Amino acid sequence: MPIFEYECARCGLVSSHVVMGSSRRRERLGCPQCKSARLRRVMSSFAVVESEASRLASFDASKPRDDSFYRDSRNVGLWAKKRAKEIGVDLGSKFEATVEKARSGKLIKEMT
Ligand SMILES: [Zn+2]
Repeated sequence: MPIFEYECARCGLVSSHVVMGSSRRRERLGCPQCKSARLRRVMSSFAVVESEASRLASFDASKPRDDSFYRDSRNVGLWAKKRAKEIGVDLGSKFEATVEKARSGKLIKEMT
């Protein structure tokens, strides 16, 4: 059951509401404090820590990447992983280890 937070436009109270079914039902929502029906959906305030999974999901391999992408060491190996996932290849633990090395800069030292 989805629970959404709403901020009252009149008194500013944020309250949680369980929203069921269609959006038309939301008309019945009201502020528990001042009974105003003018409620505005608010996003939960907790910090979202982006996991690698979500980085992978939002990562578009077909888009050109600028310098900042390559400067971010967390993106090392991301493209290869994405492509591998798309074609259904398991890169295995050896690849993971290589990526970890590359991310920490060890790989570059070994190659030179
Ligand atoms: Zn209110």
